[in-house]
Amino acid sequence: MDPRSAYVHIPFCHRRCFYCDFPVVPLGDRADGATSGSVAAYLDLLHQEIAASPGGPPLATVYLGGGTPSMLSSAQVAGILEALDRRFGLAPGAELSLELDPASFDQARLAGYLAAGITRVSLGGQSFDDGVLADLGRRHRGADLREAAGWLGLAHRRGDLASWSLDLIQGLPSQNVAHWDGQLSAALALEPPHLSVYDLSIEPGTVFERRLAQGELALPPEDLAADLMDLTWARLTAAGYGHYEVSNYALPGHASRHNRVYWSGAGWWGFGMGATAAPRGRRRAHPRTRAGYAEALAARTEEPADDGEGMPFDERLMVGLRCREGVNLERLARQESLKPSQLERLRQRLAPYEQRGLLRVEGPRWRLSDPQGLALSKGVLRELLAWWQEQEPPPASAP
Ligand code: SF4
Repeated sequence: MDPRSAYVHIPFCHRRCFYCDFPVVPLGDRADGATSGSVAAYLDLLHQEIAASPGGPPLATVYLGGGTPSMLSSAQVAGILEALDRRFGLAPGAELSLELDPASFDQARLAGYLAAGITRVSLGGQSFDDGVLADLGRRHRGADLREAAGWLGLAHRRGDLASWSLDLIQGLPSQNVAHWDGQLSAALALEPPHLSVYDLSIEPGTVFERRLAQGELALPPEDLAADLMDLTWARLTAAGYGHYEVSNYALPGHASRHNRVYWSGAGWWGFGMGATAAPRGRRRAHPRTRAGYAEALAARTEEPADDGEGMPFDERLMVGLRCREGVNLERLARQESLKPSQLERLRQRLAPYEQRGLLRVEGPRWRLSDPQGLALSKGVLRELLAWWQEQEPPPASAP
């Protein structure tokens, strides 16, 4: 089926945060997308890529992520949406999401984004604690986050913004249960309809990786990280949020439709430097530098032929298990032509997790228990990957 979703990558940030390995271009704390030549040159390439894409049915979800898309003016955001509309069309009621960072936009710019058609905002708050934000290398502070969230809440209550989400990071250096409880209270006081709570992960090449190697970063032990996740689950579910994926909670009706596309195995278009595209489920990553992206666009005469394959089996299994409803393993195994002996080996491998109550096998459906299984999903997913890599030769995909 042709994709009905698109991800657009805006790589510009004011500065690179200490934990971030995303494909970003830091422009300095005072930079403004509306006047930056770098931004204008990049947007030219982006418009070329969108115009040259093969097109398809109207888009039901669009996600402008980054980077810091709120460094763009509302006219620049409107221009991207218009380009997508010209090439694909935007379906009635489409979810059009934009990532915003506190201290990178004001209320007038927000009004411009909403006038351009944005219906959902994801606010990269990460923490309310100024010391933590400084340690993360973030540019904004807790007061900026509260102010930005206040504008979003107001727009939502007025009916100008269908939904908004707040991102937080847990498992930060020196974090304890009392501190995290305070962070959750601060988040809940802002009444975001959606919350994404990510575990800090240390990525290669980041400042945090170097600090960890030098013994300068004290990460919470694994059992404390699990306690923090338990607390997140308890506080948010008590406040009426549903836990619909490992890192995501939403009030009824506010789960991200675009996120669900990634996890469902449905395809999506990807535009921009570093963007991942999977028009038929098989992922393709764009070059992670502006020069590489420009070269790839210049060298391309037409959209690369689709390999016709869907999302690989291991990915489908892993993204499915990250979601609360889990996966129908028997159906997946049939689609992948797995032998019963291969499935049996997988069952044996995951039996310890089932015995600990982390994994539930309910007929053909496998799912992680909530919250413990979802909180400790990394172990189960590691086992899955190890099992898949042992399959020799890999099972052929079903047509
Ligand atoms: S603002 Fe976001 S994308 Fe930019 S450097 Fe920081 S974490 Fe990375």
